[in-house]
Amino acid sequence: MLRRLWMPHPERTARRTSDRDPMRRLCAEGGGVMTFGQAAAGSSRGSRPAPDAPCPCGSGTSFAQCCGPMLAGASAPTPERLMRSRYTAFCLRDAAYLRDTWHPGTRPETLELDPGLAWMGLEIIDADADERRGVVEFRARWREGADAGVLHERSRFVHQGDRWWYLDGQVS
Ligand SMILES: [Zn+2]
Repeated sequence: MLRRLWMPHPERTARRTSDRDPMRRLCAEGGGVMTFGQAAAGSSRGSRPAPDAPCPCGSGTSFAQCCGPMLAGASAPTPERLMRSRYTAFCLRDAAYLRDTWHPGTRPETLELDPGLAWMGLEIIDADADERRGVVEFRARWREGADAGVLHERSRFVHQGDRWWYLDGQVS
């Protein structure tokens, strides 16, 4: 069920048998498997909106005032801001940022991005954090061809080494 939500097409579900994490196929790039070796080659940073364009995460502020600085290397001040910036990274197909903000203990060795999957909107339902741990519950609307749906996840974050990391998520 968890994987079906991330992978709406049955044939993709069948192809996912070796995947360990539902986030691996959240967004799309180029129709094939993109490894981090390819990411390091330079095309993984994705596109960028104009600085004054509305941020893709739906915060209501501009990209330059919201997720832009984090995608450019700034640390996210809270788990919610990290969650938002990761959603934006999926929208912009920035696989390198997704890997860089994924805790080394749980992140996949490779990240596959699906070219047909578009993310249509993010809604933060709940966010809570102390100094070391954070949880962000969200809904993200997706569309792929004629299919559309909503991903509902509670993501866990951990603060280590003076920064927040995405740890894992539970889909409901
Ligand atoms: Zn944003």
